[in-house]
Amino acid sequence: MSTRARILCVDDTPKNLLALEAILEPLGQELVRASSGEEALRHLLGDEFALILLDVQMPGLDGFQTADLIKQRERTRHVPIIFLTALSKDAENVFRGYESGAVDYLLKPFDPDMLRTKVAVFVELWQKNVELGQQAELLREQELAALEQESEARYRFLGDSIPQQVWTARPDGNLDYVNERVLEYFGRSSEELLESGWDDVLHPDDVRGMFARWSAALATGAPYEAEFRIARASDGAWRWHLARALPMRDEAGTIVRWFGTNTDVDDRRTAEDRQRFLAEAGWVLGSSLDYERTLADVAQLAVPRVTDICTVDVLVDGRLERLALAHVDPRKALLVRELEETSLAADATEAGALAIREGKPVLVSELTDEQLSTFARNERELEILRSLELRSYISVPLVARGEVFGAITLVASADSGRRYTENDLALAEELARHAASAIDNARLYAESERRGRAARVLEAIGDGVVLVDRAGVIQLWNTAATAITGLAAQAVVGRPIVEVIPGWPELEPRIPIAAGPADPVRAETIPLELGDRELWLSGSGVGFDEGVVYAFRDLTEERALEELKSEFVATVSHELRTPLAAIYGSAQTIRRTDIDLDEGIRDELLGVIATESDRLAAIVNDLLLASHLDSGRLPVSIERCDALELAAAVVDTARVHAPESIELALRAPKRLPPVAADRSQLQQVLVNLVDNAIKYSPDGGTIAVRVGRADSQIRFAVADRGLGIPASEHRRIFEKFYRLDPDMTRGIGGTGLGLYICRELVRRMDGSIWVESQPGQGSTFVVELPAAESEKPKPAAQKRRAGTR
Ligand code: ADP
Repeated sequence: MSTRARILCVDDTPKNLLALEAILEPLGQELVRASSGEEALRHLLGDEFALILLDVQMPGLDGFQTADLIKQRERTRHVPIIFLTALSKDAENVFRGYESGAVDYLLKPFDPDMLRTKVAVFVELWQKNVELGQQAELLREQELAALEQESEARYRFLGDSIPQQVWTARPDGNLDYVNERVLEYFGRSSEELLESGWDDVLHPDDVRGMFARWSAALATGAPYEAEFRIARASDGAWRWHLARALPMRDEAGTIVRWFGTNTDVDDRRTAEDRQRFLAEAGWVLGSSLDYERTLADVAQLAVPRVTDICTVDVLVDGRLERLALAHVDPRKALLVRELEETSLAADATEAGALAIREGKPVLVSELTDEQLSTFARNERELEILRSLELRSYISVPLVARGEVFGAITLVASADSGRRYTENDLALAEELARHAASAIDNARLYAESERRGRAARVLEAIGDGVVLVDRAGVIQLWNTAATAITGLAAQAVVGRPIVEVIPGWPELEPRIPIAAGPADPVRAETIPLELGDRELWLSGSGVGFDEGVVYAFRDLTEERALEELKSEFVATVSHELRTPLAAIYGSAQTIRRTDIDLDEGIRDELLGVIATESDRLAAIVNDLLLASHLDSGRLPVSIERCDALELAAAVVDTARVHAPESIELALRAPKRLPPVAADRSQLQQVLVNLVDNAIKYSPDGGTIAVRVGRADSQIRFAVADRGLGIPASEHRRIFEKFYRLDPDMTRGIGGTGLGLYICRELVRRMDGSIWVESQPGQGSTFVVELPAAESEKPKPAAQKRRAGTR
């Protein structure tokens, strides 16, 4: 049905309008009345008309003026106008009417049929026009739709041909398009994805971050960028993607759509993660020498970043010992532990054991149930292994200096859905290198610590320890070896022992060598001459792969003491034998009946017996006294003694038995303070000194005993003109059993105890004793003892010590 046309009837006379309506009614169109030009214009402003019937004579705007105004407006310019007039038929008016845009000119009274016919023509024309217009519109719409379809198809084609995931979203953020890649990746239909968005496919840990960024982009219109993991349908692997989206805006700047892409950056991310992981692992391993702890830390670090399960096993006495175990799921870690107790023998079929046996890495990308069952030795183990949902593993041997000593194993389970590839193997190998060198370093350090300690012990012990290598070169020479031999380590280490120890080729076979520390040998005492020193060493050796370790101690002093003892025995025997022989001889002579002894000889023999008995007693006394002194059993009682009186008594007694060639003199001041001493012990000292002076003056001469004062001391000096003593022996003559001439080349006997007894007695009385002498010039023995002037004795610290000046 054609559109109803609107016809505007303009006449100031209502009856005319009525008449018009009546005439046009049958046309069935919409008739609109206007009673003036102004009203007609108002209608034209609001509505669209197919035709205007316009009265010419009207008050206000007349028909022509109204027509002029209509023609001036763009929208109404083409509306046909039929003038209706009763006025004139003259040409001027008609002309003006056409000029004003009239299409027709009808004079009143007009023929209703004619008018109706004319109007019907215009109505039809208008209707045709309207139809035409509608058709054109329809056509344009169709064309547009076709164009749009084409561009959509082109854009989808573009979207689908891009290797990335491409998507678009509405301004509210809801997905409205995803390309083929997205569908393939997630294995879902477009409807499903557009319905649920990304939420379903995102890694749970990344949902929050991604959502925050997307919301911020939607709120601000700023470009969107986020990284997250999405699960790949083909293998269930979580892969990192970088999402980027930009908003498209209309002319007014309002966002109409978001265009986005997801790019798979998993390889890059994984590579970066691995680098970071390796750097961190290296740092952890290098941070401490406690490798058991650092390896456990590294295993923790690896989970879940590069693996789901990480174990580190090392070989200890042919068995695998688990140093570290980390599992993404701590509950499952317990299951792995249960396995470990039963299956860690080095011949186990377990992954680590295999890598260790073969000495090369093992990569199993797809662990089948069949393979799994070879790992288990019984149903229970298989059950555990299955429950762990293991998918893939890598085991890499730990190698240090060419020796395999353990393995690192990375196992992927259903927890992450990862599968190991060659890339992962490279990572595991790198990790194993780090770990192996950390373990090796720690072991080397421990070894060097142990050696360091051993070396310190070697330096601290009192026995000399020397290592001579197989080539006979000295490699070690400890502090005690230096102290004993006087040879510094720097001077001997690195040199052949034959150059260092004179007579080594003869000595070497005398030293017993044990085959090992468990094979004890008795040390042998051997003499060693080093320069002007003669040493007695007791030593033995132990052989080992690098050579021989010799241990020795210095027996020189013990040896000297031993010698001294045997010399003493010889001396004392001799000393005892001489008087005994005299006594025995005299007694035997007296007992003889075959000869007649006269009284004189008899008395003489009895005298010999008495004298020699005295001598025997004196020797025995000296021995007893020395032993009392040694054991500290000799009491000392200090008193005020008259030094002069004491000295005079000693000189007087000596004069009685001194040989004639000896002259004894006592030199002393008139007055002298008393000396603080043990009377009988001081007397013993002076007797010994005077006896020696006589004994060692075989050619006679004066022996002067001087008593005097030296500061707060009383000094006794016994000077002879006898044999004298070389300066080097001045100290040693005071030692026990020491004699200058033990072989008695000059025939002067003695026990070597006299001066020792003197020194010890003087020392106990807080005094000092020394000798001033030169060979052939006689000797002066000096004894100083505190004067007993004041009642209070002097503090011990200020007093001179025996044997020193
Ligand atoms: P002894 O006289 O029994 O040998 P001593 O202890 O009394 O032992 O003396 C030790 C040594 O000191 C003597 O063997 C002797 O060589 C030396 N000696 C001691 N007194 C003198 C002295 N007055 N003149 C020279 N030598 C002496």
